[in-house]
Amino acid sequence: MSEEHKKVDYKKATRKKVLDKTGGYCAYCGKRIFDYSFHIDHIIPVCQGGSNELENLIPACIRCNLRKGMYDPDEFKVFLKNQIKNKVHSYINEYILMLAGNYLNKDNAKDLIEAYSNFLDVVGEVDIVFYYERMED
Ligand SMILES: [Zn+2]
Repeated sequence: MSEEHKKVDYKKATRKKVLDKTGGYCAYCGKRIFDYSFHIDHIIPVCQGGSNELENLIPACIRCNLRKGMYDPDEFKVFLKNQIKNKVHSYINEYILMLAGNYLNKDNAKDLIEAYSNFLDVVGEVDIVFYYERMED
């Protein structure tokens, strides 16, 4: 987070206006926001030329905002897909290796790894749709 980003201190009225844009939900994951515990996200980050005007501000739960960081929405989607793929990859890989090393014959291990890499391709093809995009439908 840049210094510029941190310095902005929004008034409660602004926070309410931002939160009202989604009816009280995180603009990205759609999680209900309670007790004003949200971050004001710049849809286009300030470091990429985004403004501090209301039209560029959207409510995000803390988790989504920290993940989004300096990304614009499209970059954030790529980041999320990669993060999911990497997590799935390291998790499943560990178990396939454990299975293959200890309990499987070579052909089973090969089939499993092939099925798994197809699965990773499918994960890479999913469409990530943010809550605020679903709201527009
Ligand atoms: Zn969220």
